[in-house]
Amino acid sequence: MPWSRFRKKRDMPEGLWVKCPNCNATLYQKDLAASAFVCGSCSHHLRMSARDRIDSLVDPRSFRELWSDLQPVDSLGFVDSVPYPEKLAGAVKKSGLKEAAVSGTGTMEGQPVAITALDFSFMGGSMGTVVGEKVTRTIEIATSERIPVLIVSCSGGARMHEGVLSLMQMGKTAAALARHHAEGQLFISVLAHPTTGGVMASFAALGDVILAEPKALIGFAGPRVIQETLRTELPEGFQTAEFLLEKGFVDRIVPRSELRDTISRLISFLCTFSDEQRERFAAPPEPEPVPGKADEEEGESIESQDSPTPAESGEI
Ligand SMILES: [Zn+2]
Repeated sequence: MPWSRFRKKRDMPEGLWVKCPNCNATLYQKDLAASAFVCGSCSHHLRMSARDRIDSLVDPRSFRELWSDLQPVDSLGFVDSVPYPEKLAGAVKKSGLKEAAVSGTGTMEGQPVAITALDFSFMGGSMGTVVGEKVTRTIEIATSERIPVLIVSCSGGARMHEGVLSLMQMGKTAAALARHHAEGQLFISVLAHPTTGGVMASFAALGDVILAEPKALIGFAGPRVIQETLRTELPEGFQTAEFLLEKGFVDRIVPRSELRDTISRLISFLCTFSDEQRERFAAPPEPEPVPGKADEEEGESIESQDSPTPAESGEI
């Protein structure tokens, strides 16, 4: 009965389709995940969660998450529209994370790396004490293991709810990077859209190599504040990755599809590892398939790979 398709359309499950904010194309969520959240129509780089980001960079199953239990405390008793603990609870629910940073170790083309990715869906990826601590520990583990550190930033800056305690994270992360640098170790900073405020003014700007995603907003204060302070017109394209590349602040703009290869190649040019180091951080061996279960799972996955058209999904 063809007309039933239209009648049932209002039951379309939420979150199955996403609209590209740049070209308005309707994108199927599953295809989008497979293309690393880059719009197939206009190549716009949509926002990516920290976990998806890490999965897109490290070798499969090599990521070992660290310090996932760290949670912030409301030391200042801060209240804006709602008390800070309430805001945190909302962010936990919305993002499925305990904080705005996901950290751990993994390998890229078999090369060990310590990695942190920031997640914008948790209070704008802002840096409070826990984010600062996780970034610092990632750098410190990289220094002691003599492996490179990779940090993917996506953040509005320091978290005002933690006041001066969040500003102190700028000094703390920068000091850890200075020690990492003194040991002759590599730091690659990746700037995703947006990277601003206290994050850009500390560790994100201190990469030995600084890569940025196309059209990412990168800066410290917003353009209006700068314009009012300096009382001058700002140049065209100010605070975009492309502008900063031209001024020598960013080393290279890398489309997301090339990010993994570019970083792996940089590490292979700049670092060497012993076999023992490679083995220690490598993915665990593949689990043995359970007899009889493989067929079942294969059947399921083939079915779930089908991408229904918008009309079809309306029938769900
Ligand atoms: Zn698009």
